[in-house]
Amino acid sequence: MIKRLFLLCTALLLSNHLNAAVNVVATLPVFGALAQEVGGERITVTSLARGNQDPHFLDAKPSYVVALNRADLLIHGGLDLEVGWLPPILVQSRNGKIQPNSPGNVNLAEGLNILEVPKTALDRSMGDVHPLGNPHSWLDPRNAKLMAANIYQHLAKVDPEGKSYYEGRLKDFLSRINQKISEWERQSASFRGKKAITYHKSFNYFAAWTGLDIVDTIESKPGIPPSSKHVDDLIKHIPQEGVKAILVESFYPKKVPQFLSEKAGVPMLLLPTDTDEYGIKTYFELIDYLIREIGKTTG
Ligand SMILES: [Zn+2]
Repeated sequence: MIKRLFLLCTALLLSNHLNAAVNVVATLPVFGALAQEVGGERITVTSLARGNQDPHFLDAKPSYVVALNRADLLIHGGLDLEVGWLPPILVQSRNGKIQPNSPGNVNLAEGLNILEVPKTALDRSMGDVHPLGNPHSWLDPRNAKLMAANIYQHLAKVDPEGKSYYEGRLKDFLSRINQKISEWERQSASFRGKKAITYHKSFNYFAAWTGLDIVDTIESKPGIPPSSKHVDDLIKHIPQEGVKAILVESFYPKKVPQFLSEKAGVPMLLLPTDTDEYGIKTYFELIDYLIREIGKTTG
Protein backbone atom coordinates (compact mmCIF):
# COMPACT_ATOMS: atom_id res chain seq x y z
CA MET A 1 0.00 0.00 0.00
CA ILE A 2 2.73 2.41 1.02
CA LYS A 3 4.71 1.44 -2.05
CA ARG A 4 1.69 2.08 -4.28
CA LEU A 5 1.16 5.49 -2.67
CA PHE A 6 4.82 6.31 -3.19
CA LEU A 7 4.55 5.39 -6.89
CA LEU A 8 1.43 7.49 -7.26
CA CYS A 9 3.15 10.51 -5.65
CA THR A 10 6.18 10.08 -7.91
CA ALA A 11 3.94 9.94 -10.98
CA LEU A 12 2.13 13.09 -9.86
CA LEU A 13 5.40 14.91 -9.24
CA LEU A 14 6.72 13.88 -12.65
CA SER A 15 3.57 14.97 -14.46
CA ASN A 16 3.64 18.25 -12.54
CA HIS A 17 7.22 18.78 -13.59
CA LEU A 18 6.36 18.08 -17.25
CA ASN A 19 3.34 20.39 -17.13
CA ALA A 20 5.48 23.10 -15.63
CA ALA A 21 8.10 23.04 -18.40
CA VAL A 22 8.50 26.47 -19.95
CA ASN A 23 7.30 26.33 -23.54
CA VAL A 24 9.91 28.15 -25.63
CA VAL A 25 9.37 28.95 -29.32
CA ALA A 26 12.39 30.13 -31.31
CA THR A 27 12.15 31.54 -34.82
CA LEU A 28 15.38 29.78 -35.87
CA PRO A 29 16.81 26.47 -34.66
CA VAL A 30 20.09 28.14 -33.65
CA PHE A 31 18.21 30.41 -31.22
CA GLY A 32 16.45 27.32 -29.88
CA ALA A 33 19.83 25.63 -29.43
CA LEU A 34 21.08 28.59 -27.36
CA ALA A 35 17.88 28.52 -25.29
CA GLN A 36 18.39 24.80 -24.64
CA GLU A 37 21.89 25.51 -23.29
CA VAL A 38 20.42 27.86 -20.67
CA GLY A 39 17.04 26.22 -20.09
CA GLY A 40 18.06 22.57 -19.85
CA GLU A 41 15.33 20.31 -18.54
CA ARG A 42 13.06 23.12 -17.39
CA ILE A 43 12.13 24.11 -20.95
CA THR A 44 10.78 22.54 -24.14
CA VAL A 45 11.90 24.15 -27.38
CA THR A 46 10.10 24.41 -30.72
CA SER A 47 11.75 26.13 -33.68
CA LEU A 48 9.54 27.56 -36.41
CA ALA A 49 12.04 27.67 -39.30
CA ARG A 50 14.15 24.74 -40.41
CA GLY A 51 17.91 25.24 -40.52
CA ASN A 52 17.96 25.17 -44.32
CA GLN A 53 15.41 27.97 -44.78
CA ASP A 54 16.11 31.63 -45.46
CA PRO A 55 15.20 33.41 -42.19
CA HIS A 56 14.02 36.50 -44.09
CA PHE A 57 11.51 34.68 -46.29
CA LEU A 58 9.46 31.97 -44.68
CA ASP A 59 5.96 30.79 -45.52
CA ALA A 60 4.19 31.05 -42.19
CA LYS A 61 2.17 27.87 -41.67
CA PRO A 62 -0.99 27.66 -39.51
CA SER A 63 1.00 25.41 -37.16
CA TYR A 64 3.25 28.41 -36.36
CA VAL A 65 0.24 30.33 -35.00
CA VAL A 66 -0.68 27.35 -32.82
CA ALA A 67 2.90 27.09 -31.54
CA LEU A 68 2.97 30.82 -30.75
CA ASN A 69 -0.41 30.64 -29.04
CA ARG A 70 0.97 28.06 -26.58
CA ALA A 71 4.37 29.71 -26.03
CA ASP A 72 5.59 31.10 -22.70
CA LEU A 73 8.65 32.61 -24.38
CA LEU A 74 9.34 33.70 -27.97
CA ILE A 75 12.95 34.13 -29.06
CA HIS A 76 13.65 36.06 -32.26
CA GLY A 77 16.64 37.72 -33.89
CA GLY A 78 15.39 41.30 -33.79
CA LEU A 79 16.50 44.00 -36.28
CA ASP A 80 13.57 43.00 -38.50
CA LEU A 81 15.25 39.67 -39.38
CA GLU A 82 11.83 37.97 -39.45
CA VAL A 83 9.75 41.06 -40.35
CA GLY A 84 8.47 39.44 -43.55
CA TRP A 85 6.55 36.71 -41.72
CA LEU A 86 6.58 36.97 -37.92
CA PRO A 87 4.54 40.12 -37.04
CA PRO A 88 1.20 38.95 -38.57
CA ILE A 89 1.32 35.50 -36.94
CA LEU A 90 2.35 37.05 -33.63
CA VAL A 91 -0.89 39.10 -33.75
CA GLN A 92 -2.89 36.04 -34.80
CA SER A 93 -1.48 34.02 -31.89
CA ARG A 94 -3.52 36.18 -29.46
CA ASN A 95 -0.88 35.41 -26.84
CA GLY A 96 -0.24 38.45 -24.66
CA LYS A 97 2.74 36.79 -22.93
CA ILE A 98 4.99 36.97 -25.99
CA GLN A 99 4.05 40.31 -27.59
CA PRO A 100 6.83 42.91 -28.03
CA ASN A 101 8.03 44.41 -24.72
CA SER A 102 6.47 41.56 -22.69
CA PRO A 103 8.76 39.47 -20.45
CA GLY A 104 8.06 36.51 -22.75
CA ASN A 105 9.45 38.26 -25.84
CA VAL A 106 13.22 37.93 -26.28
CA ASN A 107 14.79 40.24 -28.86
CA LEU A 108 18.27 38.76 -29.32
CA ALA A 109 19.66 41.92 -30.90
CA GLU A 110 19.39 43.78 -27.60
CA GLY A 111 22.79 44.68 -26.19
CA LEU A 112 24.73 43.66 -29.32
CA ASN A 113 27.11 45.82 -31.29
CA ILE A 114 25.19 45.96 -34.57
CA LEU A 115 27.08 46.09 -37.86
CA GLU A 116 26.08 48.11 -40.94
CA VAL A 117 23.48 50.32 -39.28
CA PRO A 118 22.15 52.68 -42.00
CA LYS A 119 23.16 56.28 -41.39
CA THR A 120 19.73 57.66 -42.17
CA ALA A 121 16.24 56.18 -42.21
CA LEU A 122 16.05 56.76 -45.96
CA ASP A 123 19.37 55.09 -46.71
CA ARG A 124 18.53 52.16 -48.99
CA SER A 125 22.14 50.99 -49.36
CA MET A 126 21.35 48.01 -47.15
CA GLY A 127 18.66 46.85 -49.58
CA ASP A 128 15.23 45.80 -48.50
CA VAL A 129 15.87 43.24 -45.80
CA HIS A 130 18.39 44.91 -43.44
CA PRO A 131 16.67 48.24 -42.70
CA LEU A 132 18.02 48.43 -39.12
CA GLY A 133 21.51 47.03 -39.74
CA ASN A 134 22.80 43.51 -40.29
CA PRO A 135 20.68 41.03 -38.27
CA HIS A 136 22.87 37.91 -38.89
CA SER A 137 24.67 38.43 -35.61
CA TRP A 138 24.78 34.90 -34.17
CA LEU A 139 27.80 33.54 -36.06
CA ASP A 140 30.09 35.61 -33.79
CA PRO A 141 30.32 33.51 -30.60
CA ARG A 142 30.96 36.63 -28.54
CA ASN A 143 27.41 37.62 -29.52
CA ALA A 144 26.15 34.13 -28.64
CA LYS A 145 27.34 34.77 -25.06
CA LEU A 146 25.29 37.99 -24.88
CA MET A 147 22.30 36.21 -26.43
CA ALA A 148 22.48 33.41 -23.85
CA ALA A 149 22.60 36.01 -21.04
CA ASN A 150 19.60 37.78 -22.61
CA ILE A 151 17.65 34.49 -22.76
CA TYR A 152 18.58 33.86 -19.12
CA GLN A 153 17.15 37.24 -18.04
CA HIS A 154 13.80 36.44 -19.67
CA LEU A 155 13.65 32.81 -18.48
CA ALA A 156 14.27 34.01 -14.93
CA LYS A 157 11.31 36.41 -15.29
CA VAL A 158 8.80 33.95 -16.75
CA ASP A 159 9.93 31.08 -14.49
CA PRO A 160 11.31 32.69 -11.28
CA GLU A 161 11.48 29.33 -9.49
CA GLY A 162 14.10 28.20 -12.00
CA LYS A 163 16.30 31.30 -11.64
CA SER A 164 19.22 29.63 -9.86
CA TYR A 165 19.01 26.59 -12.16
CA TYR A 166 19.22 28.86 -15.24
CA GLU A 167 22.00 30.89 -13.65
CA GLY A 168 24.07 27.74 -13.09
CA ARG A 169 23.53 26.59 -16.67
CA LEU A 170 24.38 30.05 -18.07
CA LYS A 171 27.65 30.09 -16.10
CA ASP A 172 28.49 26.61 -17.37
CA PHE A 173 27.68 27.62 -20.97
CA LEU A 174 29.82 30.77 -20.70
CA SER A 175 32.75 28.84 -19.34
CA ARG A 176 32.49 26.20 -22.09
CA ILE A 177 32.12 28.77 -24.87
CA ASN A 178 35.01 30.87 -23.55
CA GLN A 179 37.25 27.82 -23.82
CA LYS A 180 35.97 27.09 -27.31
CA ILE A 181 36.47 30.72 -28.39
CA SER A 182 40.18 30.44 -27.56
CA GLU A 183 40.34 27.18 -29.51
CA TRP A 184 38.36 28.61 -32.48
CA GLU A 185 40.57 31.71 -32.57
CA ARG A 186 43.68 29.52 -32.81
CA GLN A 187 42.08 27.39 -35.54
CA SER A 188 40.94 30.41 -37.57
CA ALA A 189 44.18 32.39 -37.29
CA SER A 190 44.82 31.72 -41.01
CA PHE A 191 41.53 33.44 -41.97
CA ARG A 192 42.82 36.92 -41.11
CA GLY A 193 43.03 39.09 -44.24
CA LYS A 194 41.97 36.23 -46.55
CA LYS A 195 39.39 37.41 -49.09
CA ALA A 196 36.05 35.79 -49.74
CA ILE A 197 32.69 36.65 -51.25
CA THR A 198 29.35 35.48 -49.87
CA TYR A 199 25.88 35.22 -51.38
CA HIS A 200 24.17 37.35 -48.71
CA LYS A 201 25.64 39.31 -45.79
CA SER A 202 25.16 36.30 -43.50
CA PHE A 203 28.80 35.85 -42.51
CA ASN A 204 29.76 39.47 -41.76
CA TYR A 205 29.78 39.01 -37.96
CA PHE A 206 31.73 35.77 -38.34
CA ALA A 207 34.18 37.71 -40.53
CA ALA A 208 34.43 40.61 -38.08
CA TRP A 209 35.39 38.08 -35.41
CA THR A 210 37.84 35.92 -37.40
CA GLY A 211 39.36 38.63 -39.60
CA LEU A 212 38.11 37.04 -42.83
CA ASP A 213 37.78 39.82 -45.42
CA ILE A 214 34.42 39.68 -47.24
CA VAL A 215 34.96 41.90 -50.26
CA ASP A 216 31.59 41.56 -52.00
CA THR A 217 28.29 39.69 -52.14
CA ILE A 218 26.68 37.84 -55.03
CA GLU A 219 23.40 39.62 -54.33
CA SER A 220 23.47 43.17 -55.66
CA LYS A 221 22.10 44.30 -52.27
CA PRO A 222 20.65 42.34 -49.34
CA GLY A 223 17.45 40.71 -50.59
CA ILE A 224 18.04 41.81 -54.21
CA PRO A 225 19.11 39.03 -56.63
CA PRO A 226 22.28 39.65 -58.68
CA SER A 227 21.93 41.69 -61.87
CA SER A 228 23.86 40.50 -64.93
CA LYS A 229 26.08 43.60 -64.66
CA HIS A 230 26.91 42.71 -61.06
CA VAL A 231 27.80 39.13 -62.10
CA ASP A 232 30.08 40.51 -64.86
CA ASP A 233 31.76 42.79 -62.31
CA LEU A 234 32.29 39.86 -59.95
CA ILE A 235 33.94 37.77 -62.71
CA LYS A 236 36.51 40.59 -63.02
CA HIS A 237 36.87 41.37 -59.32
CA ILE A 238 37.30 37.81 -57.99
CA PRO A 239 40.74 37.26 -59.60
CA GLN A 240 41.75 40.96 -59.26
CA GLU A 241 41.10 40.92 -55.52
CA GLY A 242 42.63 37.49 -54.93
CA VAL A 243 39.38 36.02 -53.54
CA LYS A 244 40.02 32.57 -52.03
CA ALA A 245 36.49 31.25 -51.70
CA ILE A 246 32.83 31.82 -52.52
CA LEU A 247 30.74 31.14 -49.41
CA VAL A 248 27.12 30.27 -50.12
CA GLU A 249 24.41 29.85 -47.50
CA SER A 250 22.72 26.51 -48.10
CA PHE A 251 19.31 28.01 -48.99
CA TYR A 252 20.35 30.32 -51.86
CA PRO A 253 20.22 29.41 -55.57
CA LYS A 254 23.45 27.71 -56.65
CA LYS A 255 23.48 28.64 -60.35
CA VAL A 256 25.26 32.02 -60.17
CA PRO A 257 27.80 31.01 -57.49
CA GLN A 258 28.59 27.83 -59.45
CA PHE A 259 29.08 29.86 -62.62
CA LEU A 260 31.37 32.32 -60.81
CA SER A 261 33.30 29.48 -59.21
CA GLU A 262 33.94 27.87 -62.61
CA LYS A 263 34.73 31.15 -64.40
CA ALA A 264 37.10 32.42 -61.73
CA GLY A 265 38.54 29.05 -60.65
CA VAL A 266 37.71 29.68 -56.99
CA PRO A 267 36.10 27.02 -54.77
CA MET A 268 32.45 27.40 -53.77
CA LEU A 269 31.56 26.29 -50.24
CA LEU A 270 27.98 25.50 -49.29
CA LEU A 271 27.75 26.44 -45.64
CA PRO A 272 25.20 26.25 -42.83
CA THR A 273 24.17 29.42 -41.03
CA ASP A 274 22.00 27.54 -38.57
CA THR A 275 21.77 24.34 -36.56
CA ASP A 276 19.34 21.62 -37.72
CA GLU A 277 21.17 21.06 -41.00
CA TYR A 278 24.31 19.12 -41.99
CA GLY A 279 23.72 17.01 -38.87
CA ILE A 280 24.51 20.02 -36.66
CA LYS A 281 22.68 20.01 -33.33
CA THR A 282 24.43 22.53 -31.08
CA TYR A 283 25.83 26.04 -31.39
CA PHE A 284 29.31 24.61 -30.77
CA GLU A 285 28.97 22.18 -33.69
CA LEU A 286 27.86 25.02 -35.97
CA ILE A 287 30.97 27.15 -35.38
CA ASP A 288 33.18 24.03 -35.47
CA TYR A 289 31.72 23.20 -38.89
CA LEU A 290 32.26 26.71 -40.32
CA ILE A 291 35.84 26.96 -39.11
CA ARG A 292 36.71 23.48 -40.38
CA GLU A 293 35.21 24.02 -43.86
CA ILE A 294 36.44 27.59 -44.43
CA GLY A 295 39.85 26.51 -43.10
CA LYS A 296 40.22 24.14 -46.06
CA THR A 297 40.38 27.13 -48.46
CA THR A 298 42.47 29.64 -46.51
CA GLY A 299 45.67 27.63 -46.01
ZN1 LIG B 1 19.89 39.14 -44.21
